[in-house]
Amino acid sequence: MSARSASQPLRLPSIDSLLRHPACQPLAERYGRDTLLATLRLLLDELRERVRLGLLEAVEVSPEVLAGRVGERLAVQHRSHVRRVFNLTGTVLHTNLGRALLPEEAIEAVQMAARYPLNLEFDLRSGKRGDRDDLIEGLIRELTGAEAVTVVNNNAAAVLLTLNSLGARKEGIISRGELIEIGGAFRIPDIMARAGVKLHEVGTTNRTHARDYEAAIGPRSGLIMRVHASNYSIQGFTTSVPTAELAQIAHQHGLPLLEDLGSGSLLDLTRWGLPAEPTVRQALLDGADIVTFSGDKLLGGPQAGLIVGRKELIARIKKNPLKRALRVDKMTLAALEAVLGLYRNPDRLAERLPSLRLLTRPQADILAQAERLQPALAQLLGDGWSVSAMPALGMIGSGSQPVARLASAALCLRPLTSKRLRGRSLLTLEEAFRALPIAVLGRIDDDTLWLDLRQLDDEPAWLAQLDQLQVEGRAG
Ligand SMILES: *Cc1c(COP(=O)(O)O)cnc(C)c1O
Repeated sequence: MSARSASQPLRLPSIDSLLRHPACQPLAERYGRDTLLATLRLLLDELRERVRLGLLEAVEVSPEVLAGRVGERLAVQHRSHVRRVFNLTGTVLHTNLGRALLPEEAIEAVQMAARYPLNLEFDLRSGKRGDRDDLIEGLIRELTGAEAVTVVNNNAAAVLLTLNSLGARKEGIISRGELIEIGGAFRIPDIMARAGVKLHEVGTTNRTHARDYEAAIGPRSGLIMRVHASNYSIQGFTTSVPTAELAQIAHQHGLPLLEDLGSGSLLDLTRWGLPAEPTVRQALLDGADIVTFSGDKLLGGPQAGLIVGRKELIARIKKNPLKRALRVDKMTLAALEAVLGLYRNPDRLAERLPSLRLLTRPQADILAQAERLQPALAQLLGDGWSVSAMPALGMIGSGSQPVARLASAALCLRPLTSKRLRGRSLLTLEEAFRALPIAVLGRIDDDTLWLDLRQLDDEPAWLAQLDQLQVEGRAG
């Protein structure tokens, strides 16, 4: 828009001529005539108002310029709200950023399920109605040793459904050390209450003994529950009863033992140098009657809650009317089957399953990447910033191993301003990274913005948008 003369009145094309103008045709095609009309009107009104207030010199505005403006505005308005981001927070399975990334095999399976009809609840052999759990039951039995399986929306649903199916109107016995809250609103005592199970807590926060459970068992008992204390750890003077011993106590009294593993790994992660997590198979071998775990934590699959264990108990869980409200959809099942299939070949799992590949990426590799990217970022940010490649500590996330740290590496961005201004500079830079077309999310710690590169796979896309970073005092 060029200001020709301040004294000239604002000259705008008529709405009708604009709508007919070739520059507006693609917009009408794409967004619809009514949306285009409304946005054009709004833009013209705004221009007139700004001239009236003296904020803008009166000018002549060409239809092409107006079409360009309206096009930009419509593009922003119609931009998807579900957006890709770069997770450089250092937390791999980040609940707020969608947890596990799916392998190609699962992405293809999701596309197939989205695009075509499928045998979701249809037995192709008998030609009769089938059960969606049957699609993955064989694989899960093979991988965990469980007798039977059912799958729901997430692990919170798995716990709710299991408690309600096996313990409604009875008492659920659980150690005080396991009455945990997991991010958001998932608290074991609240879930128990909603499931209709009366909480009977035993022991103390740090120590619970076998005799505490035994003393609690009575005519009103319905089940014993064990919860993996996912997101915190109690250290020092502690005692808890191992699953094997607790299962014995439960079975002596005819009670089922329910174990909520949270992350629940299918394989021993120490073979990849990761901290030990209890495996589903081991919990079942130790005597847990039902084990629940998430699909999108360490398993590396889609959001889902897996309930595995004894056949007759799974049958009771599947009969619960709540199952219908909590069931998984076809795309989840398709993705889950594909991910579980990869577990059949553990030797290649770390290269094929993105979450495991990222979790096991060597620090030297990440540090080399940070060193490679450092000059470009230093040049971009200019004199006001120190940019260095540094070793860093990341986390698995999603409540897995809260104390364990992953040796990683980061680009560390530190403002070279006075201490007083540092906080504001950092926040402004963090905001600028978030405003990029693919938002870059790091973490601020110790007057530094840390961009942990463990999960920076798509380096070209990351670099390509950097010149759009809006930083004050930026070089060039
Ligand atoms: C994460 C977790 C849950 C909740 O699982 P979602 O899949 O997020 O619903 C429940 N219990 C434990 C112990 C957990 O760690």
